[in-house]
Amino acid sequence: PTPKIPFRPFPLKFVANMGHNVPKLNDQSLLISQAFVNGEFVDAASSETFEVHDPSSGKKISTCPEFNKQDTENAIAAAEEALKSWRKKLPRERATLLRKWYDEMQKNAADIATLITWENGKPLTDAKGEAQYAANFFLWFSEEAAHQHGDVVPSSVPGNRVHVIKQPVGVCGLITPWNFPAAMITRKIAPALAAGCTVVAKSPGETPFTANALAELSRRAGIPKGVVNIVTAMKNTAEVGETLTTDPRIKKISFTGSTNVGKLLMKQAAGTMKKVSWELGGNAPFIVFDDCADLDAAVAGAIACKFRSSGQTCVCANRIYVQESIYDKFVEKFAEKVKNFKVGYGFDDGVTHGPVIHDRAIGKVEAHVKDAEKKGGKVLVGGQKLPDLGPNFYAPTVIRDVTKDMQVARDETFGPLAALFKFKTEKEVVELANNTEVGLAGYFYSSNVNRIYRVAEALEVGMVGVNTGLISDAASPFGGVKESGFGREGSKYGIDEYSIIKSITIGGI
Ligand code: NAD
Repeated sequence: PTPKIPFRPFPLKFVANMGHNVPKLNDQSLLISQAFVNGEFVDAASSETFEVHDPSSGKKISTCPEFNKQDTENAIAAAEEALKSWRKKLPRERATLLRKWYDEMQKNAADIATLITWENGKPLTDAKGEAQYAANFFLWFSEEAAHQHGDVVPSSVPGNRVHVIKQPVGVCGLITPWNFPAAMITRKIAPALAAGCTVVAKSPGETPFTANALAELSRRAGIPKGVVNIVTAMKNTAEVGETLTTDPRIKKISFTGSTNVGKLLMKQAAGTMKKVSWELGGNAPFIVFDDCADLDAAVAGAIACKFRSSGQTCVCANRIYVQESIYDKFVEKFAEKVKNFKVGYGFDDGVTHGPVIHDRAIGKVEAHVKDAEKKGGKVLVGGQKLPDLGPNFYAPTVIRDVTKDMQVARDETFGPLAALFKFKTEKEVVELANNTEVGLAGYFYSSNVNRIYRVAEALEVGMVGVNTGLISDAASPFGGVKESGFGREGSKYGIDEYSIIKSITIGGI
């Protein structure tokens, strides 16, 4: 049937953001333009800095130190020194300090949200949600810290007794992206500290200020000097990354970011055989079966899953597959919702969607849209830049009649583009969903209990959402399979990434 929606109407309710004021923090001392080493805020030895810009306006927020190899090595030395006493603290003492850091985050939640919106661009409501999500990792791992039990193993050798204990792996190098300036970093620091490790975290060059504020809050919470170190870099990112991944004092690397950079860092880390975990790119399928109980709920789930943070989360729906009998109805309702988005400056009232992070991100969305149009996809909403709003705005875009030969089917767009595919059978859609090198998240809507088990088990991903488009939770294990990496964050499993298992055999009994 011919779709009822006319081709490319453009009624998005934009909110102007020109001439906005500089955001104000309740506590101005939380906007910090230095890195954090050995409990102090410091500059690079070279005094070099890089500028950080608000992605909505392009205006400069402030600068941060451009760390190099030597600066990073100083941070590693501080973390190694601090490890000596931190690893010996009673788990309960570490738990208490993590809980205090959580309390500091709660007290300063409004300012953390302001920093997130300012440097990342996401709307303030989303930033508040992230501030809470980020703090939850401290709460969760303050509880896990005190419950790291070992084992007593029945030995197969007469007279032997075997005990298994867990110990901290050592100094950890953490590297995180800009899309969740607070949560990506707390999701790594909290389990590391809980396990008894100390850390050197490289914050994202695009969004370093949230991490700096978290460092200040760690100080206020009483986390001892050197336990948490935050290094900053933009131009020298590769040099800092190489230092972290090759220095023998670092025993563990945890990275969140793109698969390509993950592969590079894995090669670098191989030289000293570090323990590693990788949270890499996704290409999430979002499947709507015609037996879903509530089409409106499926539309709402798909909207939240696709357009949260303007499509810049690794678990965002990248390929939305809708069964043919409900395809047109779904497309119509979905496009209608997107037309009602308010795109603009994240601090303005009613704004639902902000900019993307930089012009490279826009370039990728544009390339996917152009390629889809060339191959027969129809743009129903959006499909263009919004330069009047600011330098990095792209209209939330909906394309129908997307097919598997299009670029968007293979590559993660990581931007505000919803690609709507049509499918006929369960077998076909599961094959399509799995036909990708990556496997982070997958979603589907159905009310058939047999299908729910069948499809959930068949999807080649680390996380499945059934009848929901939102799956992130500190209590739930987060991570992927295939080229989305390995290792799990959050949940009771998250702390294992920062622990080693040691067996102690006592003989002659
Ligand atoms: P990216 O890989 O370019 O950058 C991620 C981080 O790595 C940044 O802090 C960056 O400064 C740093 N980095 C880049 N090159 C480096 C190097 N040579 N050495 C050390 N550090 C280096 O990724 P991006 O484009 O900024 O972020 C988007 C990607 O991240 C997407 O592919 C997305 O799926 C992925 N991601 C994954 C998760 C997850 O949990 N699986 C979460 C968020 C984002």
